[in-house]
Amino acid sequence: SAERPATSGKTPEQVLHEVFGYDAFRPLQGDVIHEVTSGGDALVLMPTGGGKSLCYQVPALVRTGTAIVISPLIALMQDQVAALRELGVKAAFLNSTMDFEQARQTEYALSTGELDLLYCAPERLIQPRTLELLHNASIALFAIDEAHCVSQWGHDFRSDYLQLAVLADEFPGIPRIALTATADERTRKEIAERLSLTEARHFISGFDRPNIQYQISPKTNANKQLLEFIKAKHEGECGIVYCLSRNKVDATAKMLAQKGYTALPYHAGLPAVDRARHQERFLREDGVIIVATIAFGMGIDKPDVRFVAHLDLPKSLEAYYQETGRAGRDGKPSTAWMVYGLQDVIKLRQMLEASQGNEHFKRIERQKLDAMLGLCEVTKCRRQVLLAYFGDKLETPCGNCDTCLAPPETWDATVAVQKALSCVYRTGQRFGVTHLIDVLRGSENNRVVELGHQQVSTYGIGTELNANEWKSLFRQLVANGYLRTDPDGYGALQLTEQCRPLLKGQQTIELRKDPVPQKSASRSPGG
Ligand code: ADP
Ligand code: ZN
Repeated sequence: SAERPATSGKTPEQVLHEVFGYDAFRPLQGDVIHEVTSGGDALVLMPTGGGKSLCYQVPALVRTGTAIVISPLIALMQDQVAALRELGVKAAFLNSTMDFEQARQTEYALSTGELDLLYCAPERLIQPRTLELLHNASIALFAIDEAHCVSQWGHDFRSDYLQLAVLADEFPGIPRIALTATADERTRKEIAERLSLTEARHFISGFDRPNIQYQISPKTNANKQLLEFIKAKHEGECGIVYCLSRNKVDATAKMLAQKGYTALPYHAGLPAVDRARHQERFLREDGVIIVATIAFGMGIDKPDVRFVAHLDLPKSLEAYYQETGRAGRDGKPSTAWMVYGLQDVIKLRQMLEASQGNEHFKRIERQKLDAMLGLCEVTKCRRQVLLAYFGDKLETPCGNCDTCLAPPETWDATVAVQKALSCVYRTGQRFGVTHLIDVLRGSENNRVVELGHQQVSTYGIGTELNANEWKSLFRQLVANGYLRTDPDGYGALQLTEQCRPLLKGQQTIELRKDPVPQKSASRSPGG
């Protein structure tokens, strides 16, 4: 083979961001991708919806040459190719649905190195003609999807799959990755033997991290809440505190240090020597708390991190899972703790709308953020919601998350929500939460008076709730998509289509009752 670079020069992370528009790898994906990118074989078992496709699509784009994907399901193959093309990836397929001319064109594109990925039906692949073609092309890897089809015990058995073992003999040195969602141990062994994948590393998930306790609370006074959490559950233990901005990292580290903790900042704005020193101390010393932006953690493998605390909301459940997953790798009890508030929700929504990305990426990010907020506001088991997102089903509530341990109270908020929504409407959908609450509670402050909002019909109709209760209600309405923030970024709230049945009285709504902060804690307005 000719002298050519083994990779395109992009890292897997770059491909993930730039091509697919995602911010973090899912559990296992990063490990699998590393293995395959660096030339190893892999056998991957992940639940449906777990994200198997990226496990070969990313290496396909990192390594030079064309990745050959063997897939038995023609419809699926066509969907994937269409989706990849939409992202600007050069993908094509070879199967029985195409005529001679189409096939010839695709074969030509393969031989001239124009394709990133070629999907191929197994019966097509094993034809001598196709193998010949592959020998004359530059191949990045082979991916064998639905690999359990080699198993004669399973009900998806396909004899063509047995012949895929030829790939090992004919293309030694080219990495092969087999993927499946359904394989017990016996089937796994069968796959490894029949596909000559005996040297392959196995990657198996289940995504559950049962020793991690999930806790998410509304933000009242973040610093105070953090200190109380550490004192109550993890005094003197090692942990990571994540913040969104460098300033907040510095301020939080300082605050913790003043309270006597060994707390070290870590973010991209620090000199490299300081970063290295802080990381080193975190790894070597006992009881160090690292306060970091998300830049910290990649490649950190410290087994005894007892807690991961988030003072700001991650952008997606993938990011949340990855960051919280740095706790408790030794299997001992650990906590993933987070506080979040109305301002976080508004800020993230605004950042998303103001970001440069095209509509396609924005739509994805909106869904990701909605799922993240869904986890925050859920009133049933958090672990069930988190795992369900990754396609991993947990049959019964886990008993080791805050909503299992202390089920949140809910209340029928229908009337209060109607008042809130019509207040948004009556004031012209031009105001932020603070002002809306002033109007609802009948405040006589200057702004209310000057704007003439004492005259709107919703003025003073909401005295039954205090300001914090209204804030909680608005947060949940924004989080659940009944209200959105205005695109100009001033934090004004606007109604969405979803509101209609509520305003018309055709729907009732239950909301979480936030825990009441202790008296001494309620000085700060929170966020
Ligand atoms: P599988 O083949 O395991 O059933 P897919 O590869 O089809 O799963 O992925 C399921 C969904 O998860 C897809 O919508 C995909 O876009 C999404 N997904 C996969 N990996 C990521 C990631 N790292 N970040 C965000 N979304 C992801
Ligand atoms: Zn639970």
